[in-house]
Amino acid sequence: MTACGQQYTGRMNLILFGPPGAGKGTQADVLAARFSLAKLSTGDMLRAAVASGSPLGATLKEVMEAGNLVSDALMISLIRERLRHSDCANGCILDGFPRTIPQADALDAMFGQEGLALDHVIELKVDDAALVARISGRFSCAECGAGYHDVFKPTRAPNLCDACGASTFKRRADDTPDTVAKRLAAYHAQTAPLLPYYAAKGLLRTLDGMADIDAVSAAVLAVVSPS
Ligand code: AMP
Repeated sequence: MTACGQQYTGRMNLILFGPPGAGKGTQADVLAARFSLAKLSTGDMLRAAVASGSPLGATLKEVMEAGNLVSDALMISLIRERLRHSDCANGCILDGFPRTIPQADALDAMFGQEGLALDHVIELKVDDAALVARISGRFSCAECGAGYHDVFKPTRAPNLCDACGASTFKRRADDTPDTVAKRLAAYHAQTAPLLPYYAAKGLLRTLDGMADIDAVSAAVLAVVSPS
């Protein structure tokens, strides 16, 4: 449904940008549910590969726990394959991709080949100092993946997932202070240069990611809702 209550029928593709802990995953979930879009989180895809226990997963685990970026070639082939799934028929939200200029160039080429348009690029701007507090408190349901935070978004009932009722939760191995510092450095060095890239295309909107979750969702929906 649109903000004014009509059924959304168009196709929409968008990118959510922001440093680790900015709230991209949370807002991607809101958008995915509202517009029936596929959420393509490269971090989630990589964590699934690590959990599978494959030899590639073992290599990825090392790279991710060191706070470094995975190779462009691997990330590009992962997204190329994922974009072909039928759940992308209504469009998709890219969360965590592209993260480098070569990834952005490859995405441009892929969209061109598939006849797809990139409609919105939304940056969630958050102070580095706030990110460490945000990241250190986050956890998710081990069963359904619903995301929570010790302070900002606790479960409604103690130790029970709001979404599925499970009572086992997990924390990311790369959410430690040292790794977060490295991930932030990678964001500023390799990913932030993409902001002028999309600004030059007239696609970039920067929103205050410091506001509370509902206020950020309202701002995001105002950007993407068809008028
Ligand atoms: P995220 O969940 O988006 O914070 O990603 C967690 C980790 O996965 C990052 O710190 C990187 O090591 C890796 N990663 C996720 N997306 C990408 C990408 N597009 N390019 C390179 N590495 C990525």
